[in-house]
Amino acid sequence: MSAAEPAEPVEPALVECFTCGAPFPPARAALGYNLCLTCGEEAARQARTSWCIVPTHKGHYTRITKKEELKHLNQKTR
Ligand SMILES: [Zn+2]
Repeated sequence: MSAAEPAEPVEPALVECFTCGAPFPPARAALGYNLCLTCGEEAARQARTSWCIVPTHKGHYTRITKKEELKHLNQKTR
């Protein structure tokens, strides 16, 4: 049995990008990202194009980012 090892600051392991497998700092993963910077920007761009702007019955426009929100809105206006 060896004596207790000296407490060394453990270098945080890099997190692998969910899409391309490229390593990125765990600090980014702590923010809720599972993509590297490149893939994150690409995903954000694709998400933006899938959004749609719909007019509400109140006469202003709202940005819908989820299909569920759109369904909810449709039920309300009916
Ligand atoms: Zn990536």
